[in-house]
Amino acid sequence: MSERRGFFKELLGWGAAAAWAAPVVGAAGTAAAQTPTSAPGKKLGFALVGLGSLSEHQIAPALFQKTKLCKLTGLVSGHPDKAMQWAKQYGVPEKNVYNYQTFDQIKNNPDIDVVYVVLPNSMHAEYTIRAAKAGKHVLCEKPMAISVKECDQMIAACKAAGRQLAIGYRLHFEPNNREMVRLAREKTFGAVKVIETAAGFPIDDPSQWRLDKKLAGGGSLMDIGIYALQAARYIAGEEPTSVTAQMSITDPVKFKPGVDESVLFTLKFPSGIVANCASSYATGLNRYRASAERGWFELQPALNYEGIKGRMRSNGVPKEFDFPPVDHFAAEMDDFADCILNGKQTRVPGEEGRRDLRIMAAIYESAASGKRVSL
Ligand code: NDP
Repeated sequence: MSERRGFFKELLGWGAAAAWAAPVVGAAGTAAAQTPTSAPGKKLGFALVGLGSLSEHQIAPALFQKTKLCKLTGLVSGHPDKAMQWAKQYGVPEKNVYNYQTFDQIKNNPDIDVVYVVLPNSMHAEYTIRAAKAGKHVLCEKPMAISVKECDQMIAACKAAGRQLAIGYRLHFEPNNREMVRLAREKTFGAVKVIETAAGFPIDDPSQWRLDKKLAGGGSLMDIGIYALQAARYIAGEEPTSVTAQMSITDPVKFKPGVDESVLFTLKFPSGIVANCASSYATGLNRYRASAERGWFELQPALNYEGIKGRMRSNGVPKEFDFPPVDHFAAEMDDFADCILNGKQTRVPGEEGRRDLRIMAAIYESAASGKRVSL
């Protein structure tokens, strides 16, 4: 299957626009929730690997209070005191608490169906592969890994184990982002011609793993710029054929070689759509806009956990998007559980994560060489 056809089949689903326009599964407490087709009451057990900020503030609370098809049943951490405190807080039995050395014993634990990898980027491949070998389905945070080779190994391991692999692309389950795709795909304002996407935040603590090339695999692009890349790809609905890029470092003390501070990149798509994208660890960037023949539509903020706002304008008439709030992580996890329970293919498979890694490698190559890189 070509890269382009693969994109449509896996990311957009078979009905393309219809799949994006469909209600978000498990959007707790909102009209967007969809009735699960699995056995009533059946919940899959999720184990979180890495009890850091994202697990603490987003994923665990979603599993505790908002998901309909999954529950928190396992914890994996390098800090036993923290893990035991979490176990108490979330009612996870002590026997379901592991560390990185005992992790493989998860194989013998029927309480755990899915391993959610929430570790620094360079650890994603190892824990995905070990989880697959333990017979578990895997939800792995973005970026999927730090190289295309690792992505291939992760995909192969899950395939060999007969288990599903999904990447934590939460915005595929967020209604405003889905509306951007619908408007583009249905050509509501004519064909999209130009896409602008920007994602960034000013990074603080210089000692954190995000600024360590060995753990992060790169800099802003791998961490936050990936959202700008994702959005350009899902709004275009095509795969880019070439990239150009420029990189800038204004703080060489904080940003060591291999860790980018800001990256501007352009993507050219087969239909002629061009995307101008920005990624930064130096400043806040949070906006996606698609300009079409007879109007434009945009999100600003585009990627926050809450409060995403969309609007469109055609023939001088503005209109705001109006969607009920959705917990992105509950929706993402319930959708994955629904796929596992009902034998469906996730819309965010490993192959989708691999595409981003391949393009990000080309972006880094272009920034280093100053030349356009074909994909
Ligand atoms: P944190 O630094 O807050 O947490 C990472 C956790 O990983 C640590 O708390 C620790 O857990 C564990 N860990 C194991 N080895 C190391 C190590 N050598 N250095 C640091 N931590 C280690 O990171 P985040 O939670 O913010 O990010 C985790 C992953 O989630 C990343 O891949 C990131 O890209 C992704 N992410 C995705 C978001 C999204 O919106 N989808 C948003 C934020 C992050 P313990 O102490 O339990 O061992």
